[in-house]
Amino acid sequence: MSNLSYVSPTDDSPWGTYLSQVDRVVPYLGNLARWVETLKRPKRALIVDVPIELDNGTVAHFEGFRVQHNLSRGPGKGGVRYHPDVTLEEVMALSAWMTVKCAAVNLPFGGAKGGIRVDPKLLSHKELERMTRRYTSEIGLIIGPQKDIPAPDVNTNGQIMAWMMDTYSMNTGSTSTGVVTGKPLHLGGSAGRVKATGRGVFVTGREAARRIGMDLNGARVAVQGFGNVGGSAAELFAQAGAKIVAAQDHTGTIYNANGFDLADLIPHVTNTGGVAGFKGADVMKSEEFWDVDCDILIPAALEGQINEDRARRIKARLVLEGANGPTTSKADDMLFERNILVVPDVICNAGGVTVSYFEWVQDFSSFFWSEDEINVRLDKIMVDALKKIWDTADRHRITLRTATFAVACERILIAREERGLYP
Ligand code: GLU
Repeated sequence: MSNLSYVSPTDDSPWGTYLSQVDRVVPYLGNLARWVETLKRPKRALIVDVPIELDNGTVAHFEGFRVQHNLSRGPGKGGVRYHPDVTLEEVMALSAWMTVKCAAVNLPFGGAKGGIRVDPKLLSHKELERMTRRYTSEIGLIIGPQKDIPAPDVNTNGQIMAWMMDTYSMNTGSTSTGVVTGKPLHLGGSAGRVKATGRGVFVTGREAARRIGMDLNGARVAVQGFGNVGGSAAELFAQAGAKIVAAQDHTGTIYNANGFDLADLIPHVTNTGGVAGFKGADVMKSEEFWDVDCDILIPAALEGQINEDRARRIKARLVLEGANGPTTSKADDMLFERNILVVPDVICNAGGVTVSYFEWVQDFSSFFWSEDEINVRLDKIMVDALKKIWDTADRHRITLRTATFAVACERILIAREERGLYP
């Protein structure tokens, strides 16, 4: 399946899933299809050794990655993930989905992603800082406000972005706020950034529900992953009158047919690190999560969660992909056959990178917008982008995923063609 010697993707692995998504869009690209090989290989992939001194005086080495998948439309953009399962192949897929995502909402960015293969929960605060700084230094050759701009992803946050910004600034003798986004507010961060991905999931979900005639008031929602994305989206759905009936994360699975009280659940998750032990709910076996009676399912955790077997059992009418790559291609087909509408990751979770773009623009102009301005602009970008994708899906009778790829890949490959081959 792969045309590259350095990865061995399978049908269900992240890069394998991405490649099959690209294959599906080719018939809709017209003459631009002759450039499609560009999308099937990353422009640049950097593997770095990240050695740090642990608090006990010994030295530990971690594998770090930064992949720039495509830079045709602008500097690379995408998060940095700290997770024990991170691999080059995963980071490649995540960087490619960033290329598609940025183009889908028409941001002037290419796609990139980074990661360290580490369980950050096993590191002290100081060890985490040393690892972040050494990693930033190692990838410092290829990042920069005009080159590639990292941001938070799974297990990274504003504090880690602050260390990255400081390390890059020290190494370049500057104060470069624009080198990363998702920074704390007093370091050039943007209002609304923390909750932006969840807000985008809500906005695309609201629009999709309206188009299929589903009332959000009283709708039952199940959320996998109750972190920054899933938690913020759940809050907004609850504000719109929906009931959050099930939640799952790495600590457990909980259920309440009447809906959780989020005013209690959100602080519980913040204080204890997960949904387990929440008083206002029943405990469920983890696999039962996929059988829950619900109207909307939000996978907001990791890749590959919805496989064929789970796709066969899902009861929801609407799936909102808050995570990147949560659905395998075979599961995607199964959901389509079962008439379950999927709003794909590459548009559904684009709210985060959209407000990252606002942050980057604000840093350049050193002029900051209010949270209301941010949210209004975010809403408009998401609604307009989804409308264009929906029209494309209707015109060709294709899924929203293939339609998003069609809109995005056209933009990417036009830029590719206009820039031409060098030399
Ligand atoms: N990590 C987020 C994503 O997957 C945000 C990336 C960014 O803001 O650059 O979209």
